[in-house]
Amino acid sequence: MDTANLTRDETAARSAAITARSIRVELDLTGAPERARTGFPTVTTLEFDATTTTTWVDFIGESVQRVVLNGEEQEVVYDGARIALTGLAASNVAVVHAVGTYSRSGEGLHRFHDPADDETYLYTQYEPADSRRVMACFEQPDMKSPFTFVIDAPAGWEVLSNQVPTRVVPGVGVQHVEFAPTLPISSYITAVAAGPYTRVDGEWERGDQKIALGVFARRSLAPYLEAGEILEVTRQGLDFFSDAFAYPYPWGKYDQIFVPEYNLGAMENPGLVTFTEAYLARGAATDSQRAARANTILHEMAHMWFGDLVTMRWWDDLWLKESFADYMGAHASAAATRFTDAWVKFAASRKAWAYQQDQLPTTHPIVADIADLEAAKLNFDGITYAKGAAVLKQLVAFVGEDAFFEGARRYFAAHAFGNTTLDDLLSQLNAVSGRDMDEWSRAWLQTTGMSTLWLEAEPDGAQVLVQSDPRPHRLRIGTYGFDGDRIVRREQVALDIADERTGVDLPEAELILLNDDDLTYAKARLDARSLETVEESLSLIDDSLARAQVWASLWNATRDGELDPSRYLAIVRRHAPDEPNSGLLVGVVANAAFAVRHFVTERIREAEQRALVETAFESLLRADAGSDAQLTWARAFAAASAYDDVHAAELTAMLEGQVPEGLPVDPDLRWQLLTALATTGHASASDIAAELERDDTGDGRTAARRALASRPDAAIRAAAWEAAWNDTSLSNDHLDAEIAGFRAGGRRDLVERYDGEYFRRIAEVWRTRSIELARRLVIGLFPASPTVDAVDAWLAQNESAPAALRRLVIEQRDHLAREIRVRALRR
Ligand SMILES: [Zn+2]
Repeated sequence: MDTANLTRDETAARSAAITARSIRVELDLTGAPERARTGFPTVTTLEFDATTTTTWVDFIGESVQRVVLNGEEQEVVYDGARIALTGLAASNVAVVHAVGTYSRSGEGLHRFHDPADDETYLYTQYEPADSRRVMACFEQPDMKSPFTFVIDAPAGWEVLSNQVPTRVVPGVGVQHVEFAPTLPISSYITAVAAGPYTRVDGEWERGDQKIALGVFARRSLAPYLEAGEILEVTRQGLDFFSDAFAYPYPWGKYDQIFVPEYNLGAMENPGLVTFTEAYLARGAATDSQRAARANTILHEMAHMWFGDLVTMRWWDDLWLKESFADYMGAHASAAATRFTDAWVKFAASRKAWAYQQDQLPTTHPIVADIADLEAAKLNFDGITYAKGAAVLKQLVAFVGEDAFFEGARRYFAAHAFGNTTLDDLLSQLNAVSGRDMDEWSRAWLQTTGMSTLWLEAEPDGAQVLVQSDPRPHRLRIGTYGFDGDRIVRREQVALDIADERTGVDLPEAELILLNDDDLTYAKARLDARSLETVEESLSLIDDSLARAQVWASLWNATRDGELDPSRYLAIVRRHAPDEPNSGLLVGVVANAAFAVRHFVTERIREAEQRALVETAFESLLRADAGSDAQLTWARAFAAASAYDDVHAAELTAMLEGQVPEGLPVDPDLRWQLLTALATTGHASASDIAAELERDDTGDGRTAARRALASRPDAAIRAAAWEAAWNDTSLSNDHLDAEIAGFRAGGRRDLVERYDGEYFRRIAEVWRTRSIELARRLVIGLFPASPTVDAVDAWLAQNESAPAALRRLVIEQRDHLAREIRVRALRR
């Protein structure tokens, strides 16, 4: 439905002609527990002023029954995405009676039936444009208005929205809940959740401000809800941001809910933040998992100001809120919580996402040109989040933290409840920093790609810092050497560079880090001596941020084909077992596994795979009982064992209860171990059925589906292939399970016959499935062919395919081409 893809131009015209005054949304969710019911009644009353006689409201659902405009019944003109309104007056009241669809894709009003206790759970997810799957509305961020939600739901359920309820009327088996109107907000951050969720209450107080806190999860996950820790981080964050932004938290209450089958990490709905259940561990969690959760809690909280209170006008400036929130997630973690090393993980993992995306042919400036919603949907990417945040970190180095926060404070004060563009932020930063933000913006926000930094020696021995793709950087160079058996920083040189070559005068050192403290956004290479030092002694480096820099540098060089993947893997085998930072360890182990699968040549892949399994197994046995390292290595061992069954007997023994002392084998780890066995032919359908009996939960059913599809049998893979493309009843999570099963164990021999079919199917799937599910199929089933011929042929023959689809295919092509290129270097 092309009219669903709203464009920047038409929405700008609509907001120029229409001013929303208030929107009232009445939802009847009383039928939700009945699975046969596919839809729910929804009535929206929109009050708005108009300087035009015609407009439209957005709605995507089962049907539109009635449209009443200014008291008069209208003919329903509905094309599946838009409802036409004609004969507008200066002031209008439009009432739309419709039926929305319960979602299984995580877009709109998602419905989940919990097999653990047969309860039904609902929640909404909208960004960028799925509130129209629940209500008739003006689906664009610059048409803010107060929203009033009125919800009928089964009795006994928690019924939640952005605001507090003002009236609850109990009925027979049902309840009628009316919420207070919100302050003016955009449609994409409205929210509803309903179901027998478990609730934990808390409170945050500051001066005379008192905010009620709530933490929610499905009943069957209640034992795993670490509400105490979540509330503690929440209070620390509210303290921190209230001070930093000098604008009191505006949204009345602060509820946080963990929801099933969620498409992203979390969403910043004011007063009702939604989170993926992946942040609740069913048993065992490492501290780095808790750190990631705290980071996300703080990221969403920063949005309460940056994004919710002040909102981008259109999706071109999505980065305004996402870069800022991403920066704040790490900054507030480090400044206000026990997760003081948040910038370490940022340097190693978050920036890797940015560097990767920024080297794709589809990369874009941080300030993007987003013509329509499909483009917007794909821009929730490594540039918008991670590069944006990294560039803000460089900005803080440039203008200083005080000026940066003062600029933010002025920005909130000037634009509260309004919409902005980049210039609005830059002008505040200009004023407080006294620096030319336009020049900075041109260099960092309006360009693509990154500099690579390395050292060279002139013929006379003088040292030169070289940067490709030159930009103005403020950075520090650290020189490191041995102090006893530890490597510590000896000196640090701060400098501003702008040219391609800058003379530097550095002391002799065993290790030189060119982006010490990770201030700037650039790939920093290690010189030959430094590489030898880390090869021998990486794990002796004292400082975790310095080790993050080294790990990141090694990985970037491997991806770029400058460092032999075998040399990288040898460094991982030697030093990862001694990596004390669990966040770094998780990332390194994942990169090593990726290198084996993609960057190592066929000739030595089996040997490298075996070496990796053995490292994981030995490290698991060697790790301290109950440590994060033990759990991380156990997971790595299970993951690696899907490609090499040398330790199948040990995996089986672990499932039978013979586990290393102190290792918590929770349901998720059990599924991982069993899936490895299934993938290599050592576990049968009845083994999987037995495990499902042990863990007949939502997660268990998804895991069982994946394990079944992972068995090394061409007919089973064929069934997974069919299900992924054709079974439209699959939820988002179950679709992922089929895709993962299809690809399990890297068994190209079982699936390569589908390469051609993939390219024959993607155009149709893009047309017929929601963008969320279509994207999973296009990315997840992209063939790992030995050449790019087939994808190049498709691109040549499909120049007029939708831009968003082409973008995804071009990106997958580039990943494949990189792997082929890196492997070719080592033949
Ligand atoms: Zn965000």
